[in-house]
Amino acid sequence: MTTRLVWFRRDLRIHDHPALKAACRGDGARVIALYLATPQQWEQHSMAPRQAWFIRQHVAALGRSLAELGIPLQVAVVPDYRASVDWIDAFCQRHRVTELFYHYQYELDERRRDAALERALDGKVTCQGFDDGVLLAPGSVTTGSGTSYQVFTPFSRAVIRRLSQALPECVAPPSACGTPLRAPDIPDFDYPEQTVSEADFPVGEVAAQARLAAFCHQTAAEYDAQRDFPARPGTSRLSPWLAVGALSPRQCLVQLLENHPDALTGGPGAVWLKELIWRDFYRQVMVARPEMSRYQPLIPWTAAIDWRDDPQGFQAWCEGRTGFPIVDAAMRQLNATGWMHNRLRMIAASFLIKDLRIDWRQGERYFMSQLIDGDLASNNGGWQWAASTGCDAQPWFRIFNPTTQGQKFDRGGAFVRHWLPALDAVPGSALHAPWEWADKQGMVLDYPRPLVDHKQARETTLAAYQAARNKE
Ligand code: FAD
Repeated sequence: MTTRLVWFRRDLRIHDHPALKAACRGDGARVIALYLATPQQWEQHSMAPRQAWFIRQHVAALGRSLAELGIPLQVAVVPDYRASVDWIDAFCQRHRVTELFYHYQYELDERRRDAALERALDGKVTCQGFDDGVLLAPGSVTTGSGTSYQVFTPFSRAVIRRLSQALPECVAPPSACGTPLRAPDIPDFDYPEQTVSEADFPVGEVAAQARLAAFCHQTAAEYDAQRDFPARPGTSRLSPWLAVGALSPRQCLVQLLENHPDALTGGPGAVWLKELIWRDFYRQVMVARPEMSRYQPLIPWTAAIDWRDDPQGFQAWCEGRTGFPIVDAAMRQLNATGWMHNRLRMIAASFLIKDLRIDWRQGERYFMSQLIDGDLASNNGGWQWAASTGCDAQPWFRIFNPTTQGQKFDRGGAFVRHWLPALDAVPGSALHAPWEWADKQGMVLDYPRPLVDHKQARETTLAAYQAARNKE
């Protein structure tokens, strides 16, 4: 009898799941499913305990959905990626698996693991991989000379051209493969204590789809005008579900176009579509430039930048004690909720790199240890953008001023006041430079003074970048 195994990874859903659909062909074959947790990832801080929690809840929800379809889900904890190859090999022998289905993952270690698994199963189990977690497969959109895009705008244009010719379709969930089963027991993933608001991040693909539908219906058309203001609900906040694969970018695209058919031609919703394309952009860069998965800068001369060793400054940044309200409120939002608004990610990253001149990799790692939506490609892409070390990054001589950024994007101060009650007494006009107001009043605030003089820090950072550049 044919036994098919579907290995779930960052694709914890049954809707629009090409690998599951292909395995459940309705030809009477036995279908079983597998999820492997690898705790070493969160021990090494490459995954936030919150995200481990979110994944575990989604694995449980997936187990229930699969059980209704008559598909048993086996969940196991293995120490690391290497061990998962031997584990699956033995599992396939024990359960007489003849075919293995899965979605590709594009990070270097994951690609190596899959190649090792295919070698181990060669001649015993037929492996079928499918592209997922992207609008278009990495490597399928290339420049005229067949190379990968290093600049976003031409990549985006090429993606839109391709989507206009043929839209990717979402596949429906499979029909039942057998009689409904009891939901599986999910082992403890053994992650450290964490706090996650289930009201902010409800579990399950149905909740994600509802949020997507509401966003596309009510907010996507206004996205361009609202997306930069952290106090407003102007963005979708769908990143956690996209990161664990409870939702696919294809589902986002299809839902967007149902509400805004002109999004592909620059109409309402077009700017949100661009964000989904940024996500694809960083994935195709990650495949084309394996050094990204090894946390290397993509612009070689930037490897020579003289970063400061400043554990105290780094700690103050992590804890939201830099004395710059927009940076501190952002970091407190991250620490308390596991999510941070995109404009704030750019400001907080820029401050660490270009005001404190601390190596961007320290910030990247810290974000990964906290983010519920942590994702290697988007996080590394975002950090290398802010550090001016990546593909199509912020030019190195452009440095955000944290005070004016606050004044521009949190003008009324609603966001800062929410996270920094110590600034309650400070009037709105002074909120983003509270030390100036406190000095004039002769007051001492229960809030740190600025860690650096922005103007001076800017000058020394520009000099450090220039010096690295001169060594080229
Ligand atoms: P929306 O604005 O509604 O956008 C829709 C979706 O598009 C997002 O959910 C996300 O999947 C994708 N997207 C949006 N902006 C970007 C972008 N700039 N790059 C790549 N994809 C994007 N995003 C992550 O998903 N995980 C991360 O670990 C991550 N780390 C980041 C670190 C830094 C320093 C920066 C500057 C950005 C980072 N981003 C990351 C990108 C972006 O900040 C988040 O995707 C976005 O804030 C999520 O909120 P949203 O779902 O409301 O996004």
